[in-house]
Amino acid sequence: MPKDVPRFWREIQQRYNMKGNKCGSCDRVYFPPRESCPYCRRESMGKMEKIKLSGKGEIITYTIIHVGPEEFEEQVPYPVAIIQLEEGPKITAQIVDCKIDELKIGMKVESEFRKIQQDGSTGAIYYGYKFKPVE
Ligand SMILES: [Zn+2]
Repeated sequence: MPKDVPRFWREIQQRYNMKGNKCGSCDRVYFPPRESCPYCRRESMGKMEKIKLSGKGEIITYTIIHVGPEEFEEQVPYPVAIIQLEEGPKITAQIVDCKIDELKIGMKVESEFRKIQQDGSTGAIYYGYKFKPVE
């Protein structure tokens, strides 16, 4: 088993709950959570407050992946977007349940926890966030 598995699962759990944190000094929100705010630095020490994110946001920009990593081969082409969450942080994620020609910048999307990848040799299934258009 690779050494980084426990860390991987910690991060996945963090994403599963979609918890970020907020700087008590300038109100900037971070996802994944950070130890301190890069803007306020020492000012933010001990003031980083955990918050639950809504998982809603909008597409800032996107790209269509035509040649994916081997594990994602069966899914190509698929869109990957930079999404700005309602609370402010930007994240990169795959967009699902949307035809490629219906994708738009500014489209409202929400997160869904889904299977990302299945490791063929070990059968391990990895999960993470994907985003779909808000109905
Ligand atoms: Zn700050």
